Amino acid sequence: MTKYDYDLFVIGAGSGGVRASRVASMHGAKVGVAEEYRVGGTCVIRGCVPKKLFVYASQFAEEFEDAEGFGWTVGETSFSWTKLVANKDKEIDRLNGIYIRNMERAGVEIIQTRAYLKDAHTVHLVAQGRDVTADKILIATGARAFKPVGLPGIEHAITSNEAFHLPELPEHIVVVGGGYIAVEFAGIFNGLGVETTLLYRGEKILRGFDDDLRTGLMDEIRKKGVDLRTDTDITAIAREGGRFVVTLNDGSTLETGLVMYATGRVPNTPGLGLEEAGVALKKDGAVAVDKFSQTNVPNIYAVGDVTNRANLTPIAIREGQAFAETVFNKNPIAVDHSIIPTAVFSQPELGTIGLTEQQAREKFGAVDIYKTTFRAMKHTMTGRDEKTFMKLVVDAATDRVLGVHLMGPASGEIIQAVGIAVTMGATKKQFDQTVAVHPTAGEELVTLKEKWVPPAAKAAD
Ligand code: FAD
Ligand code: NDP
Repeated sequence: MTKYDYDLFVIGAGSGGVRASRVASMHGAKVGVAEEYRVGGTCVIRGCVPKKLFVYASQFAEEFEDAEGFGWTVGETSFSWTKLVANKDKEIDRLNGIYIRNMERAGVEIIQTRAYLKDAHTVHLVAQGRDVTADKILIATGARAFKPVGLPGIEHAITSNEAFHLPELPEHIVVVGGGYIAVEFAGIFNGLGVETTLLYRGEKILRGFDDDLRTGLMDEIRKKGVDLRTDTDITAIAREGGRFVVTLNDGSTLETGLVMYATGRVPNTPGLGLEEAGVALKKDGAVAVDKFSQTNVPNIYAVGDVTNRANLTPIAIREGQAFAETVFNKNPIAVDHSIIPTAVFSQPELGTIGLTEQQAREKFGAVDIYKTTFRAMKHTMTGRDEKTFMKLVVDAATDRVLGVHLMGPASGEIIQAVGIAVTMGATKKQFDQTVAVHPTAGEELVTLKEKWVPPAAKAAD
């Protein structure tokens, strides 16, 4: 019998905390979880899931237009934002209920409250005004949206949190940022008929992605009507009646109905009592952990976005699972963060895994590039000027495929499947040995024959 109230107490019932608590409980631990908002966390409540539902909603306008090329006449259409939000909320409530039931079925006690550490074994439950003790503590508090501090008028700007519950859609929106969220929401608003301006402070959106994807997506986003401006930042936001006047770094101004900042997320560590418990943080404010997600205080662990390793739901889930297996099932598992497939639900969608061309050249020297740009079969009938792009980065010495980078319909689905081969270390020859599925876009990945030659090298021939 433990001398503590719980074997494990988890702070935060998001992707990582839910998985860790369920698995630990199934291995026989007495588990309590504190959640201050809603069980399911960012991904389910105000992240991946509602975002993707909005992406689907925003694609219908193009679908209606494209139908004509296939002989359809679509009558008058109309869109109700209120109905979309209500239906989305209904689905999120359903998922929230499933998460709660699954945790309770696994024997996890859910406590609705904000919680913080008082010392290495004591957690204070704010709503209940009491302390509980635990042998092991897991910090799974995720991250929160970051807005630049000190920017005049920044208080007028919303983040993705509010975007899920806008009372109505504005006629025009300014989205700031060039990462996943900015790019995804620019596509959502634009598709739903909102005039959209996307401002990015650098030269090319999606820093860290393969350069061809970055430039290719910028072209496509612009073709869809988004006013994408690079090297552009906001210096002030002023409210004028119900509208906002945004001053840009070149001194010009823009009038808009709404400003949304998607300028990154920061680990949810302030006010958690980590200092009191002696837990070390990294420079970026994230909890410092080892490969088993253990902090410098041996009974305290942390998983997910709060550790700022790879801020994606499947990674938080894996880290939660690995923690529970390691600590409560004597089965040590360290999550491999070295190769992670990911999708950006932009329009068109991106899918990517492994090294970019630039990273591969830096690491391996000689690399072979195979790439193709084409119009998807569907658009030969719709006439839509949208490009699909596919690229393989191959180690010239071993023939191993080091990276796959896709832009086009279903890129997320394709990268999930081809990601298996890349994770297994497949070679270009093995890609070529795979029989094509015809007619698909994905078949290009197994039929790319010619190495790409840079234009300069071609000219020198
Ligand atoms: P979270 O899911 O954020 O859970 C943390 C929980 O802790 C929250 O429920 C919070 O309320 C609670 N909490 C915090 N502090 C306390 C406290 N002191 N006491 C009690 N409870 C507390 N990832 C993908 O893989 N694919 C996507 O398509 C995708 N889309 C996204 C879209 C958006 C708009 C956003 C914002 C994120 C998206 N992500 C996506 C990222 C993904 O949501 C996160 O990586 C994931 O949710 C991290 O899980 P977590 O368990 O670390 O934290
Ligand atoms: P990201 O880190 O992806 O992007 C942040 C963007 O904001 C970058 O373009 C950055 O520019 C810019 N930026 C940062 N600070 C400032 C500033 N002060 N002024 C102007 N611009 C600034 O963060 P997101 O908020 O888009 O998303 C957070 C994380 O959530 C993602 O990194 C991802 O891990 C996860 N996510 C995953 C999704 C998916 O899997 N599909 C979808 C949504 C989120 P710069 O590059 O120049 O630094």
